[in-house]
Amino acid sequence: MAHDQHHQNDQNDLPHHADIAVIGSGPAGLIAALAIADTIDNLRLLSVGPPPPPAHRADLRTTALMTPAITLLRNLGLWDALSKHATPLENLQIIDATGRLPRAPDLFFQAREIQAEPFGYNIRNSDLLTVLQTAIDRHRAITRLETKAVTALTRQPDHVSAVTIEGQEFSANLIIGADGRHSICRKAAGIGVKSWRYPQVAIVCNFSHSRPHHYTSTEFHTAEGPLTTVPLEGNASSLVWVLHPDHADALMTESDTAFRDHLQERLEGLLGQVETVSRRAHFPLAGQQADSMGRDHIALLGEAAHVLPPIGAQGLNLSFRDAAWLAQCIAKGLAAGHPPGHDTVLQDYDDHRRSDITERIMAVDLLNRSLISEALPIHLARGFGLHLLKRFAPLRQLAMKRGLRPSGELPRLMQPQLARPHKQMAATGPVRHSPG
Ligand SMILES: Cc1cc2nc3c(=O)[nH]c(=O)nc-3n(C[C@H](O)[C@H](O)[C@H](O)COP(=O)(O)OP(=O)(O)OC[C@H]3O[C@@H](n4cnc5c(N)ncnc54)[C@H](O)[C@@H]3O)c2cc1C
Repeated sequence: MAHDQHHQNDQNDLPHHADIAVIGSGPAGLIAALAIADTIDNLRLLSVGPPPPPAHRADLRTTALMTPAITLLRNLGLWDALSKHATPLENLQIIDATGRLPRAPDLFFQAREIQAEPFGYNIRNSDLLTVLQTAIDRHRAITRLETKAVTALTRQPDHVSAVTIEGQEFSANLIIGADGRHSICRKAAGIGVKSWRYPQVAIVCNFSHSRPHHYTSTEFHTAEGPLTTVPLEGNASSLVWVLHPDHADALMTESDTAFRDHLQERLEGLLGQVETVSRRAHFPLAGQQADSMGRDHIALLGEAAHVLPPIGAQGLNLSFRDAAWLAQCIAKGLAAGHPPGHDTVLQDYDDHRRSDITERIMAVDLLNRSLISEALPIHLARGFGLHLLKRFAPLRQLAMKRGLRPSGELPRLMQPQLARPHKQMAATGPVRHSPG
C-alpha cells in the first residue's frame, strides 16, 4: 500500500477530473476507496464527504466485523493500526427471554468449533473511522475533498459531474455512491429502492460491568426483539437493545441510574453488576434495498444500497464485501479495456452482490419477525430450529459458517494470505473519460 506520502488537503490543488470519486466518508466509502486504490495502480481517486465529527458527537456505536472483513483489513495493511482497538469475539450465546412456552433452548456457539480464529472483532466506530481516514490521507492515489455535502450530480454520456454545497465542482468516470440511506447518488442514477419499517427502535450505549464477558457476545431473544451485548476491552460491553418504540422512548428519557437498573434487571445478572453507562443513542429499525447496484457511471455501496436492522451484525460486513467486489470488478473491466464506469463493470458488480444482499436481508427479517410475531406456529418452528442447532453439530457448524460469510465465492481481497496478483494498471496513466 502506498502510505509513504501524506496528502495535503489543499482545496486549490484538487483535480477537477478523477477516474473514480467516492461520495460519502462513512466506513463503507472509506474502505471502498482504499480497496480500489490498493487493487489498481495509476487511478486518480477522490474521497468526497464531511470530515469526521468532533469527539462529543462521535458515533457511539461499535461494529462486530467478522472474519472475511478482518481479512480485508489485513490485506489492505490496516489491521496493525486497528487491532489494538479490537476485542475478539470468541463465543456467541443465544438466550430465550421471550417468556413464551415452550421455551426455546439456549445456544452457545464457539468459534473454535469451526476455525482457529475468533468469529470476528468488535471495534468502536470512532476508532474504525479514524484509522480508515488516516489511511486515506496517507494514500498517494487518493485525494480527499472535504465538503458538508454534494448537492447535485449530472450524468453525461461518459462521466458524471458533481457540485458541492460550497460550490466546488468535480467529475469522474465512475461515481461511487457511499452516501448513506438517503443517497443522492442513487437518485441521480434513477435507481429505485424498496424501503420498509419495523415497529421497533434500537437503543445503543456502552457499559462497564463487574464480571468478565469471556469474549462472549450474548443475544437475549425477547418478544420485542433481541437485546445484544458485544464485548469491549476489559469488563465492558456495547449494547444494542431492540424494543417497542413506546418502551424505547421511556428508556431514552429516564435517568442514567434508572436506565442502569433496567438494564441490570434485563441482563439477569449475566455480567454481574452494571456499573457505568455511557450516553444513549437510538435508531428506528428500517430496511431498504436498491433495485440495482449501479448504472450510468454510478455504483452504489453500503447503506446507499442496503439497510438492515442491527441484528446479527450484518450491515457493514455486507458493505465490506461490496467494496472488495467493486474493486475486483473494476480491475477486471480495466483488464478488458473498459473504464471504471462502463456498463459491463456495473453489471458484473450487480451480479456479484445481489444474492448475498438479498439473502442477508431475508435472514435478518425472518429472525426479527419470528421474535415479534404473536403466532404460535412461528414460535414452535423457531424453537424446533434452535433445538436442531443445539443437537446436531454439523448443522450448528454450517449455521456458524453461513453467519460469517456468504455461500458463494469471496472476493480476492477477502481471501486469507492473499497471494498478491499483479496489480491492475489503469491503461496508460489515469483513465480519462471515454465512451462507456
Ligand atoms: C445500532 C447499530 C449497530 C450496528 N452494528 C453493526 C455491526 O455490529 N456489524 C455490522 O456489520 N454492521 C452494523 N451496523 C450497520 C452499520 O453501522 C452500517 O452498515 C454502516 O454504518 C453504514 O455505513 P455507510 O458508510 O454505508 O453509511 P454512513 O455511515 O451513513 O455514511 C454515509 C456517509 O455519507 C455522507 N453523506 C451523506 N450524504 C452525502 C452527500 N450528499 N454528500 C457527501 N457526503 C454525504 C455522510 O455524511 C456519511 O459520511 C449497525 C447499525 C446500527 C444502527
